[in-house]
Amino acid sequence: ESFEDMLLHPSIMKDITYHGYTRPTSIQAQAMTVALSGRDLLGCAQTGSGKTAAFAIPMIQHCLAQSPIWRGDGPLALVLAPTRELAQQIEKEVKCFSRSLECFRTAIVVGGTNIADQRSELRAGVDVIVATPGRFIDHLQQGNTSLSRISFIVLDEADRMLDMGFEPQIREVLHNLPKRHQTLLFSATMPVEIEILTQEYLTTPVQIKV
Ligand code: AMP
Repeated sequence: ESFEDMLLHPSIMKDITYHGYTRPTSIQAQAMTVALSGRDLLGCAQTGSGKTAAFAIPMIQHCLAQSPIWRGDGPLALVLAPTRELAQQIEKEVKCFSRSLECFRTAIVVGGTNIADQRSELRAGVDVIVATPGRFIDHLQQGNTSLSRISFIVLDEADRMLDMGFEPQIREVLHNLPKRHQTLLFSATMPVEIEILTQEYLTTPVQIKV
């Protein structure tokens, strides 16, 4: 399968080409088709497989398909990742594939950065948030952002997030999402804790292994 076959928004297509991606990697070919169809996804994949674009591109496409409401009402999509470094890489990639879209805003919400600056950015309104779980919950509790419009969530390196003790924060988010939403969960390993989380929060997910 090619990127052209995926019926992506022309701006996204343009950015893919600009970024030098000519054809999808194996996980991209599999995961993007599932994610673009609106189904939940359980992806067993390591870093280096191209999984970032595999969820970032469908996430942007999903946001573009939502009815335009004022952004101040809260983000449309959320990516949770275990570390600041990974969140930064993800944010960079989301920005890459949305650079031709005017008015598309992505915020990064991680620990170790100025919380007041993040607060004003979030309050001004964003489409996508890429975050580490602890800092995201801080902002949620302070009322700087909201889950009320999130209809697309990605848990990246979910096994590492659980290892780092983020399970309560992840559950807090998943539990309070609007009823209608799509969930993509990526994990390098599939321990029983991930299986339980999947059973509880994903709806008949398509499983992909690369
Ligand atoms: P990731 O697993 O998302 O961290 O991606 C690993 C590396 O592969 C990154 O440097 C990406 O820029 C690169 N990459 C991902 N998808 C493609 C693609 N379709 N064509 C060429 N390079 C890619």
